[in-house]
Amino acid sequence: MIRVVFIFGLLLMSMSCSTVSDESHNHDDHEHLVKATSVSVATASPAATGTSVVTGTPVATGTPVVTGTPVATGTPVATGTPVTTGTPVATPQDSSLFLAGAEGRTSEETLAVRLDIWLCQDDLYVSDLTPRGSTNLRCNVSVNILEDTIIISATGIPNHDFESTNGCCAIEQQELWYLPRFPSDAIDQDYEYAPVRGATAFTVTGVAIYGPEDGPGGDAVAHELGLYEEDRQPIDLGVCGGHSGPGGQYHYHYDANCIHWHAETSSTNYMFQDVDSSVHSAILGFAFDGYAIYGSYGWDMNFEVKEMRSSYQLIDGATGYDGISDYIYVVGLGDLDQCNGHITPTPHSVEPVYHYHSTMHNGADAHGFPYFPLCYHAIPDSRNIGDMGGTRGEGAAPTDRPTNSGNRRRRP
Ligand SMILES: [Zn+2]
Ligand SMILES: [Zn+2]
Repeated sequence: MIRVVFIFGLLLMSMSCSTVSDESHNHDDHEHLVKATSVSVATASPAATGTSVVTGTPVATGTPVVTGTPVATGTPVATGTPVTTGTPVATPQDSSLFLAGAEGRTSEETLAVRLDIWLCQDDLYVSDLTPRGSTNLRCNVSVNILEDTIIISATGIPNHDFESTNGCCAIEQQELWYLPRFPSDAIDQDYEYAPVRGATAFTVTGVAIYGPEDGPGGDAVAHELGLYEEDRQPIDLGVCGGHSGPGGQYHYHYDANCIHWHAETSSTNYMFQDVDSSVHSAILGFAFDGYAIYGSYGWDMNFEVKEMRSSYQLIDGATGYDGISDYIYVVGLGDLDQCNGHITPTPHSVEPVYHYHSTMHNGADAHGFPYFPLCYHAIPDSRNIGDMGGTRGEGAAPTDRPTNSGNRRRRP
């Protein structure tokens, strides 16, 4: 009960989050995102009706959201979120929807402590399908659970055949990832941005997940989808939204749902449409704050499976060429918050718990920027962030942008 009240309080706070405190940060190139928090177009309130409604469309039509005026009285927003209805808590805790152990789980501890979540604990060999790529690369993950931290050591090779593309070729890494065993939520919603360059999270196979931007600073996914021409540096994403970068580090920019796809079939045939849309997705990985990232399918308030939609859209006239700053957050557009997560029960937790999703679409049925977490709901372990020996990130950061070690921003 306390938790529900607390969450509701957070919602109220997020609704009233205005430009007042945010404007002091508008020197960074997340200006548009910052503005978006004040926009609150939120007529979208499908949550209250209880049926699994396709969200967002009404909101999307109001495209020129960038008025910046603090319209945000916000009342409609609350209806767009699961917690206010109270329904999830009412579900019987012995429901077959939940996986073993979900009843007893407390949200205090990261799911990363469960060893069954990690793949490649036994060596698995895969191929880099790009010409010149190696055909015998080893996916391996080992998990070390300490008192306050979980340390993942990994080769950084995925559990499926993949394409390095023009970043050819992937080589085995010596990845060391650190997760807080007990995620500590950011105070006053002072969420830290995920790094603009380099890894922002990693998979249950120990592979890096990057943010949307590639070396030249564009949204690599928007480019992959043909939304703009990349005239700065050739960028190409391979099967399942990944490719290799400097140092041979394979990484995903979006999707990654193929991690749990049929391994016996060639990965080159993978399409997102192949993912089972009838069940809640499994965990793809973890953000550096310790919260899990699920695949694209999650539960609505009634435990109906649906594709989880992000709440960002391109600003008018933008294409993604300028990366993250081309997008705004529109409250209620999709299912997820500004960090690309939400608080609901999951198959691993009867109690509502924060988690992220991999998003392929937004609430207006366009592409699902930011695809993975854009900021951290809890405080990330900073050992994952920064140059880590200088191999993180790809391409040289343009001079007008923070470099990898200096890109820790606040306030989405
Ligand atoms: Zn990349
Ligand atoms: Zn979810």
